[in-house]
Amino acid sequence: MSDHVALVTGGSRGIGRAIAVALAEGGRSVAINYRSGADEAKETLRLVQAAGGTGVCVQGDVGDSGDVDRCFKEVEDSLGRVEVLVNNAGVRVDGLALSMSDDSWETVIRTNLFGTFACCRRALRPMVRARWGRIVNITSITGLRGSPGQANYSAAKAGVIGLTRTLSREVAGKGITVNAVAPGLIETDLISDLPAERLEALVSETPLKRAGAPEDVAGMVAYLCSDGANYVTGSTLVADGGLTA
Ligand code: NDP
Repeated sequence: MSDHVALVTGGSRGIGRAIAVALAEGGRSVAINYRSGADEAKETLRLVQAAGGTGVCVQGDVGDSGDVDRCFKEVEDSLGRVEVLVNNAGVRVDGLALSMSDDSWETVIRTNLFGTFACCRRALRPMVRARWGRIVNITSITGLRGSPGQANYSAAKAGVIGLTRTLSREVAGKGITVNAVAPGLIETDLISDLPAERLEALVSETPLKRAGAPEDVAGMVAYLCSDGANYVTGSTLVADGGLTA
C-alpha cells in the first residue's frame, strides 16, 4: 500500500500538510497541491521527505477544471498515476444568509464542493481502469449540523457528504473506496479570525475540552487510505472531540 501515489489538495498548510506527512510515512510519493502558498508547499514537501516519502508541489485552483487537469498531468508525469486522492482544499467566507453576497456563496461552493467534484472526476477514470483507488473528502461537522453564519460553507460541506455517498456506490465494483472525514474545531489558519469568545465557547462545548490538532484528522485519513479500511466506503468519520456526540 505504501507505494501508491497520493495527491493532497490544499497541502501547503494546516490539515492538508499533516495529511501529506502522515501519508508519506512508509515511503509513499505525495503530490502537494496549493493555490498561492508556494513557500509553504515547499515546506510541506520538506516534511514529507523528512518522513521518508518523496513528492512534488503542484500549483492550481481546484475550482478550475483546467487547473485540475493540469495538476493531475503534472503529477502523472513526475510521480505516476494518482491512486490516492485527498480532497482537502477549502475556504470560509462567513456571513449571515440574509445578507450573503452571490460572490461569497459562489466562492465557497466552487472551492469546497465543485473543487472536490472536479478532482474526483479527474481521478476516477485512471482508478477505474486500474480497478483500485482510495478517495477521502474532507467535509466538516457543519455539513452534519447547522452553523449560523456559514450557510455557504455548511451547504458545500453537506454536499461533499452527498457526493461521497453517491460516488462510493458508483465505483464500489471497481475496487475504489470513497469516504469523508468531518473534523470539528481544528487549530489552523482557517479559524484564526474567530473571536476568542467564540473559540472558548466551542472548546467548552467539546467533551474532550480542547481544539483538535491537524494530526488528529490526518491519522483518520491515513487509516482510510490503508488496507485496514478496505471494507469501509461511503462513510463519514467524525474527528471532533465529541462535539456532535
Ligand atoms: P487552511 O486555511 O489552514 O488551509 C487551506 C488549504 O487549502 C491551503 O493549503 C490553501 O492553499 C488551500 N486552498 C484554498 N483554496 C484553494 C483552491 N481554490 N485551490 C487549491 N487549494 C486551495 O485550512 P484547514 O487546514 O483548516 O482546512 C483544511 C480542510 O479542512 C478544509 O476543507 C476545511 O474546510 C476543513 N475543515 C477545517 C476545520 C478547522 O477547524 N480548521 C474544521 C472542519 C473542516 P493556499 O495557501 O495556497 O491558498
